[in-house]
Amino acid sequence: MAASRTVFVVGAGIGGLTASLALAGRGFRVVILEKTERLEEAGAGLQLSPNASRVLIELGLQSRLAASAVTPDAISIMSARAGCEIARLPLGEAATSRAGAPYWVVHRADLQAALQAQVNDNPDIELRLGCQFEDAVPHTKGLTVVQRSGMTRQQEVAMALVGADGIWSAVRSHLFPQTQPQFSGLIAWRGTLEATQLPREHTSRRVQLWMGPNAHLVAYPISGARRINVVAIVPGAWNRPGWSAPGDMTEIKNAFASPQWPPTARMLIGAVDEWRKWALFTLAGGGEWTNGAIALLGDAAHAMLPFAAQGAGMAIEDAAILAKCLGESQHEGGPAISAAMQRYARLRQPRVARVQRFARQTGRIYHLTGPAAYARDLAIKTMGPQRMLARQSWIYDWRA
Ligand SMILES: Cc1cc2nc3c(=O)[nH]c(=O)nc-3n(C[C@H](O)[C@H](O)[C@H](O)COP(=O)(O)OP(=O)(O)OC[C@H]3O[C@@H](n4cnc5c(N)ncnc54)[C@H](O)[C@@H]3O)c2cc1C
Repeated sequence: MAASRTVFVVGAGIGGLTASLALAGRGFRVVILEKTERLEEAGAGLQLSPNASRVLIELGLQSRLAASAVTPDAISIMSARAGCEIARLPLGEAATSRAGAPYWVVHRADLQAALQAQVNDNPDIELRLGCQFEDAVPHTKGLTVVQRSGMTRQQEVAMALVGADGIWSAVRSHLFPQTQPQFSGLIAWRGTLEATQLPREHTSRRVQLWMGPNAHLVAYPISGARRINVVAIVPGAWNRPGWSAPGDMTEIKNAFASPQWPPTARMLIGAVDEWRKWALFTLAGGGEWTNGAIALLGDAAHAMLPFAAQGAGMAIEDAAILAKCLGESQHEGGPAISAAMQRYARLRQPRVARVQRFARQTGRIYHLTGPAAYARDLAIKTMGPQRMLARQSWIYDWRA
C-alpha cells in the first residue's frame, strides 16, 4: 500500500466509517484501526436530519438503510405540564422533497452495520478490528503510526491520520492532553421495546418529544418501525466515563413517577425492559482539532449534548469536508496536507460551535419548570410548526 496516499482512520464509529468511505471516494487508500474485536450493538436510536442523510446517500448508503431507517411523518412536541401535544412539526415526504434528503430515525447498530458493509465492499479500505492506536510520529515522509493488536505492536508510514475515536479519544490525548471532557450533570437513559408492546396510537411514525421539569423524554420508531427507541435525559451525579452501563429500572421509573409527568410518558418509561445509561460529557468549543497531518473528527473533536440530535450528524458532515479538503491537496505532499487539515478545521469549527450552543440552549428550554415552562409552551404554540421547523433550517439545509 503506497504510504503517500494512505490515510489512517482511528475508530470505526459513525464518524470514522463515514470518513473512510468519503476518503476512499476521493482516491485515498484507507486503513481503519478499531480497538474492539467486533462492532457491537452499542448505543440506541439516532435521528439523522437531511444535512447528514444527504452525505450518507451520496456515499451510496440509501439502499443499505432502506429496510431499517424510518422516515417519521412528524415531530410531536409534548408538554408534561399541559399533558398533551403542543405542536406537530411535519416531516415525511413533503419535508424530504423540500430538503432534498430525508429525515431518518435509525438504530445506531443498523447504521454502523450498513457503513461497515459498504467499507467491506470497498477494495481501497482495510478495516482492522481488535487493533488499537498507540502513537503517531511525524517526519518528512508523513507519519509513522504505531498500533497494537493483542501482544503485537506494529508501525506503518502514512500520509495523514484522522482521530475519529470518540469522546475519550487516544489521538486527542496524544495531541492535546490538556483538553478533557467535562461532565454535564446529566445522564441519558436509553432503551428499546417492541412496537407491538404499545397501544397503536403510540406506534405511529412520529418522533415524540416530552418536555418536563428538569428532564425530557424522546421516543421514536427504529429498525423498520418494529422497535421503539426511548431516551430519557435526567440530572444526576453518576459520572463514570465510558460508553454506557446497565441502568436500574427502579431509578428511572422513580425519576418519572411524579404526577408532573403524564401517564403516557410514564407508560413509555415502564415499557422498556432493559435500560442502559450514559453520563453526558462534552468538550468545550474553541479547542484545537489539528496538528500537522493529524486531525480530529466527530466526538473526539467536539462531543456535544444530544439535545439538537446532531452529534453523529456533525461527525458525518466533518467526514465529507475533511475528505474534500484532503482530496484537493493529495498530490502536493507534506505542507499541503497540513494546510488541508487546517482548512478542514477552519471550515467546520464555526458551524459545530453554533450547533453546540444551540444544543445547550435547547436543553435548557426543554427542562424549564413552573411559569417559565408555561411561557415556553405558549411561545411554541404561537410560533406554529412551520416557524418552529424554520428555526432549524440552518442545520438541515447544509450541503458539503
Ligand atoms: C443519549 C444520546 C443520544 C444521541 N442522539 C443522537 C441523535 O439523535 N442524532 C445524532 O446525530 N447524534 C446523537 N447522539 C450523538 C452520537 O451518538 C455521537 O455523536 C456519535 O456516535 C459520535 O460518533 P464518533 O464516530 O465520533 O465516535 P464513537 O461512536 O464514539 O466511535 C469511536 C470509535 O473509536 C474506537 N476507539 C476508541 N479508542 C480507540 C483507539 N485507541 N484505537 C482504535 N479505536 C479506538 C471506539 O471503539 C469506537 O468504535 C446521541 C448521543 C447520546 C449520548
